[in-house]
Amino acid sequence: MIRILEPRLANQIAAGEVVERPSSVVKEAVENSLDAGATRIDIDVEAGGSRLLRIRDNGTGMGESDLALSMARHATSKIDSIEDLEAVASLGFRGEALASIASVSRLALTSNTRGDSAHGQQALCEGREMSVSVRPAPHPRGTTVEVRDLFYNTPARRKFLRTEKTEFGHVHEVIKRQALSRPDVAFSVRHNGKQTLQLNAAMAESERTRRIATICGREFAEHTVAIERQAGPLRLWGWVAEPTFSRSQADLQYFFVNGRVIRDKLVSHAIRQAYRDVLFHGRHPAFVLFLELDPAGVDVNVHPTKHEVRFRDSRGVHDFLFGTLSRALADVRPGQAAAVMSQADSDTGALQSSMGLAVGGSPSFAAGNMGAASGGDRSWPASGAGGFQSSPFQPHSTVPQPEFTDGTADIPPLGFAVAQLHGVYILAENQQGLVLVDMHAAHERITYERLKQARDGSGITRQPLLVPLTLAVSNREAAIATEQAEELAALGVLVEAVGEESVICRELPAALKDADAELLVRDVLSDLLEFGTSDRIASSLDELLSTMACHGSVRANRRLTLPEMNALLRDMEETERSGQCNHGRPTWVQLGMTDLDKLFLRGR
Ligand code: ADP
Ligand code: MG
Repeated sequence: MIRILEPRLANQIAAGEVVERPSSVVKEAVENSLDAGATRIDIDVEAGGSRLLRIRDNGTGMGESDLALSMARHATSKIDSIEDLEAVASLGFRGEALASIASVSRLALTSNTRGDSAHGQQALCEGREMSVSVRPAPHPRGTTVEVRDLFYNTPARRKFLRTEKTEFGHVHEVIKRQALSRPDVAFSVRHNGKQTLQLNAAMAESERTRRIATICGREFAEHTVAIERQAGPLRLWGWVAEPTFSRSQADLQYFFVNGRVIRDKLVSHAIRQAYRDVLFHGRHPAFVLFLELDPAGVDVNVHPTKHEVRFRDSRGVHDFLFGTLSRALADVRPGQAAAVMSQADSDTGALQSSMGLAVGGSPSFAAGNMGAASGGDRSWPASGAGGFQSSPFQPHSTVPQPEFTDGTADIPPLGFAVAQLHGVYILAENQQGLVLVDMHAAHERITYERLKQARDGSGITRQPLLVPLTLAVSNREAAIATEQAEELAALGVLVEAVGEESVICRELPAALKDADAELLVRDVLSDLLEFGTSDRIASSLDELLSTMACHGSVRANRRLTLPEMNALLRDMEETERSGQCNHGRPTWVQLGMTDLDKLFLRGR
């Protein structure tokens, strides 16, 4: 027998998707506050949120009839038509959050649209029919959402709640994301009566920077590269961490699309690809990035919690993200002002961490202060094929000689070598103080970048396979092999579909003749399907060059002359990504005079 479910039960079922835990309530309520134009949001949490969640805002508020309606399912003030949905600029639009929350908790909404607090109203929702009663209750302009005893009537859900601490951690994380995306809004959070977060509205650039540092940590703020790029309808801005500031977990990754925090495979792929060549194996990049585009270019209605989106031009978005970020990361090298956010005062924290400040790219270098042009007299071979010169450290004819008189004018970013330590490190003096360079790591990167350049200049050489490789694939993969044949050929992969579910590969890049051809072709096709592009070939080729560079680079325990060391320093200044070796380890460290003074407890 078919029956229409009673409202509360129907809403509880919907709540299954939208209200997973206390933090979901906070996410929905804060989004509503932001949609209502709030400039200050106060959040009170008790017992991890399972006893009480109170979200108070100073937004537009709701009048009596809206208040009664707001808790009904499919009740929203944000869209009217499917056209509205396609261009939606508000965070909410599904009209189900309050109804869902009301069905699994004791919910009270108190609101006022006027400045005069005597005119407030409170709405409560009861019974299986979820009937709403409204009565007068004083409240300043804005809205307070009070959620008590979450999941009291859905024991199965309640059982899944973790400890207070864990649940509050989730709540905190949700608020951090919202606070990152809306620096203009003040947030305050209390747990069991204790203030845990207080963020004033940040208008000036320096205040925004401080908010980033508060939320993501000072270390992050001090090791970032600022991003800002507009290309056609896409704009990307925000901060990415220098490769040497990486994380063991993907826990410092915030990506917003039109102000909405999202998790998206395409986005993570593009970012990972941009970091591919510079990140230590197994580490995760850190970033806070905002992508803005015409709302019509992105479908936000693909998931009830709106954590996922679908881009109309996914290939374009991928390329734009990858291109912008890899460009920015390539410039992480001595002499490029990478970190621009070291606003926080620098004398808190241990000496250890303050020494870490300048690893592989110091904020204290001035932008554009690159080493003197070396007249193109490259000292080591650009092509790996013929092996490496036995003494790669030929000084450039134009290497400037050390000269520290009053020491401001022509000192290159990495300064001038003064000594070599145990055949491993170069010690150099620059304007800030002491520079330490891992000479093998640095040389490896330089060699690697040259090899890549040489390859990119001459294109990828293909080589026929001795025995053409026939592969069973899905029909979508076979179709993409035909559609993107030209693209694949440019990557060095000659494949064609033979039949609906089979492809034949005849040629591969010559340099990859020893690779697992089947795996490579499969991976490339599945990348093309999923992301519209593939970097497998490039990354396999890079790996090969990286190994060659590693073997061809100067080993430890090689005695170098000062001119040889200076030549290496100048090359580092000119080489992209030279802040990290091929494996993502830092190549150089700056110890400023203040760092040194601290070591000796010497006040200045
Ligand atoms: P949606 O946000 O998708 O519209 P909700 O169930 O979250 O659906 O909210 C329903 C409606 O209640 C909103 O469209 C809005 O008009 C109103 N509302 C909810 N919270 C607030 C608030 N804090 N301030 C003003 N209006 C609110
Ligand atoms: Mg909402």
